[in-house]
Amino acid sequence: MKKTNSSTKSTTDILIIGGGPAGAVAAVTARKNYPSKQITLIRKEEKGIIPCGIPYIFHRLNSVDENLMPDQPLLDNKIDLIIGEATKIESEKKIVILKNKDSYNYDKLILALGSDSHLIPIPGAEKQGVWQIKKDYQYLKKLREAMLKAKNIVVIGGGFIGIELAEELSSIEGLDISIIESLECCLLTNFDKEFALAAEEKLKKKGIKTYTGVKVEKIGGDAQVEYLQLANGEKIAADAVILSIGARPNINLAKEAGIKTEEKGGIWVDEYLRTNIPDILAIGDCAQTRDFITSKNIPVMLASVAASEARIAANNLYQLKLIRENKGTLGVFSTCVDGLVLGVAGLIERKAKEEKFEYIIGEAQAPNHHPDKLPGTEQIKVKLIFAKSSEGLLLGAEVMGPESVGEMLNIMAMAIQQQATLYDFNTWQIATHPLLTPAPTIYPFIAAAQNAMFKLKNRC
Ligand SMILES: Cc1cc2nc3c(=O)[nH]c(=O)nc-3n(C[C@H](O)[C@H](O)[C@H](O)COP(=O)(O)OP(=O)(O)OC[C@H]3O[C@@H](n4cnc5c(N)ncnc54)[C@H](O)[C@@H]3O)c2cc1C
Repeated sequence: MKKTNSSTKSTTDILIIGGGPAGAVAAVTARKNYPSKQITLIRKEEKGIIPCGIPYIFHRLNSVDENLMPDQPLLDNKIDLIIGEATKIESEKKIVILKNKDSYNYDKLILALGSDSHLIPIPGAEKQGVWQIKKDYQYLKKLREAMLKAKNIVVIGGGFIGIELAEELSSIEGLDISIIESLECCLLTNFDKEFALAAEEKLKKKGIKTYTGVKVEKIGGDAQVEYLQLANGEKIAADAVILSIGARPNINLAKEAGIKTEEKGGIWVDEYLRTNIPDILAIGDCAQTRDFITSKNIPVMLASVAASEARIAANNLYQLKLIRENKGTLGVFSTCVDGLVLGVAGLIERKAKEEKFEYIIGEAQAPNHHPDKLPGTEQIKVKLIFAKSSEGLLLGAEVMGPESVGEMLNIMAMAIQQQATLYDFNTWQIATHPLLTPAPTIYPFIAAAQNAMFKLKNRC
């Protein structure tokens, strides 16, 4: 592993800035495509964190050290790893300059700069005891220690990260956990209401207090947080607050280099993740995403999306392999609350309505084993959205149930990508097993499609 010490000028073929999921996957994919190229990856932090594992450092993983992103794949693939901060890109000279004044000449530059948590302007947000979620080893160690010493923890923001944090913290004895969400219920930006409410029920069962449809007016106390004042007059005791209200793409380095950025989003990229400047690409959270179905800009920031973009960018770096472009971001995502897995791929019904699609919903529910008297049997609930026109094209899928639905969702994502229709579901060939899947007679995805077909025929 190479580390920076004195100021040097180096040359590399492929330079990647960022060591999160996007940067790491881009580096390894580039190595597989271009065995003889020199590949260099620069990242700020000494120890990389697995961002998706952050909620689980408090209890299940029991430490931040168990959640480190391994460097071994980079070393195995002969990637030069530099710990440092890139502060300037001189795109005409094809040079990147680091904070310590080292510089790197590149042939191809991939920006994988990621995102940082968003700080809302709530009065009192600067008080001691108010925390953010940062992908930073030292910060997370301090956060973990503080949470373990706290008594009343309030999570502001009931999105998927907020509820994962709250659920994990609620497993620690003696902690009193609350979530405050300004929307009508938690997870409502991701799911239709019936799915979001099922997740909220689970949170309540775990003893988490949920305050929904209300905003935080101020974070009160002297130097240290003591309470939260809500807009409806309620006051909640708090000795620790976690702000979980979204992330912003890191675009400053790109912007200062004259790379085009979207007004409210990330770095502008085309289908091959190329920016407007030759030989500079952008991937992951720092890059703008366009919706797979509507083609509108959407603020999706997921590690799975980052990895997919990284593969596309690295595969096409020196030569376009035409069928491997980014056709848009589906936003496939899943979460888990107290054993209940919820997932979504493509459009939810509320979004389909907003976008003025003419759609038909297919719904079904089935036990995950057959017969359902088998121990450990749980229900799987499926909601599919098909376009009424376009031969019943699948627009979106929502699922909830036991662990297996996490992977079922990924099959739905492939179905949307491959433009499956209502009629494809009717002839879908599947494997079933009593201990592993729902019964073939009531397989919920097929049953949901049949439900939609029935409605379509009967013009419901
Ligand atoms: C708590 C939490 C839970 C999550 N759970 C999930 C999940 O379950 N599933 C999912 O798909 N997604 C999840 N996400 C989202 C996911 O973590 C992000 O989408 C993902 O990290 C994006 O990867 P990235 O490589 O684009 O950016 P990042 O992970 O943000 O990495 C950016 C990298 O760039 C480096 N960098 C930035 N600027 C510079 C510079 N100037 N010089 C050098 N280095 C620089 C940083 O140091 C870092 O290494 C979660 C996020 C959080 C915070």
